[in-house]
Amino acid sequence: MTEITKIKAREVLDSRGNPTVEVDVVTEKGIFRAMTPSGASAGQHEALELRDGDKTRYLGKGTLKAVENVNKKIAPKLIGLDCHYQETIDNIMLKLDGTENKDNFGANAILPISMAVTKAGAADKNLSLYSYIAEMFGVLPHTMPVPMCNVINGGKHAGQENSIQEHMLMPTGAKSFTEGIRMISETYHHLAKLLKQKFGAGGTLIGDEGGFAPTQLTSVNERLDLMLKAVENAGYDGMIKIALDPASSEFFYEGTYKIGKKSYSGGELVDFYVDLCDTYPIVSIEDGHAEDDWDSWVEMVKKLGTKIQIVGDDLFVTNTKRIQKGIELNAANSVLIKLNQIGTFTETLNAIKMAHDEGWSAIVSHRSGETEDSFIADFVVGTSAGQIKTGAPARSDRNAKYNQLMRIEEELGEESEYPGIDFRMDHLA
Ligand code: PEP
Ligand code: MG
Repeated sequence: MTEITKIKAREVLDSRGNPTVEVDVVTEKGIFRAMTPSGASAGQHEALELRDGDKTRYLGKGTLKAVENVNKKIAPKLIGLDCHYQETIDNIMLKLDGTENKDNFGANAILPISMAVTKAGAADKNLSLYSYIAEMFGVLPHTMPVPMCNVINGGKHAGQENSIQEHMLMPTGAKSFTEGIRMISETYHHLAKLLKQKFGAGGTLIGDEGGFAPTQLTSVNERLDLMLKAVENAGYDGMIKIALDPASSEFFYEGTYKIGKKSYSGGELVDFYVDLCDTYPIVSIEDGHAEDDWDSWVEMVKKLGTKIQIVGDDLFVTNTKRIQKGIELNAANSVLIKLNQIGTFTETLNAIKMAHDEGWSAIVSHRSGETEDSFIADFVVGTSAGQIKTGAPARSDRNAKYNQLMRIEEELGEESEYPGIDFRMDHLA
């Protein structure tokens, strides 16, 4: 048994310069630190992100209440517990909070404790974080993820209204994760050249996730054409596929979807995606429809479910109750996994288990507001999820994850496996 001797939270900054919560969990082995990320196009059904609302600090976005919840209300109940009791510790926090959505403490108070406890447990067993997580999840850690790299940012991440949010590249033809990242980095720089030629220096300004955010490229077709040209110029024709995250809840207004100047019903939007999939090498679409427009999701699966990965993010919010509903309705075939949408490590593992048991894929994801904490890199290997979405290969908040994955792949050596085009890990028939 190794006791938790101290827990301390503080307010620090995230990648957008907004405050977020960092927690230190202390054991005899040292200080174990975790930070919580933050979404911009957050789903309505996510666990609460507690903000102070005091307009005199950080425009109301302060996190001092969440910090105080950790230091004064949660920490005293966890001191003395064994740091290996992950599930027990998570359950104690859920009980103490006592609400469905972490409305009392905030998920931004609970999650960094939960993650720091995982780190403390790993260190205590002298295991790497990914090996410790794999032990808890019951898998052998050797599956590297195929990255989904968001090279053109739109929507809320780029100050644009009514546009597709994420245009991502997946290096499915790479032989390893490390090779895949090189392919993406080279393509990203070829894309920068193309944008500079077309629009001058302003064409390469970037959005929240490190991808380019050219305001001149308004249609998804123009954006994808340019991305494919960059892939070709980099010499990777056919080896890199495309994934989209429209984040459509952001452009859904009373039953109508608006992209640019065009309006679509849910069914018309399905047909728009069918056309896109016929034209481009698209292998995955996330949040193609809004978070409560279940009927359109079902129609999407009917038309595209055998062809592409259909991923629920705002739809499921890493919540097993919503994932269960999605399974019953056959509303998707994949779940996006964000630890801070649900708020504890244990609940997040359960969400992945539920997806995998159904034969669905699970994609571990960053948030648009990130930190230097690379927890999700170890998490994706420890859960054998096979896919990670963590932005463009630019800015250290994103590259912290890619760099950690390259270290893990190096450490695994011959034992590592990169799924490539089988990124869904055969979860789909
Ligand atoms: C997303 O929508 O998948 C995403 C990462 O954005 P955010 O973190 O802003 O919700
Ligand atoms: Mg999303």
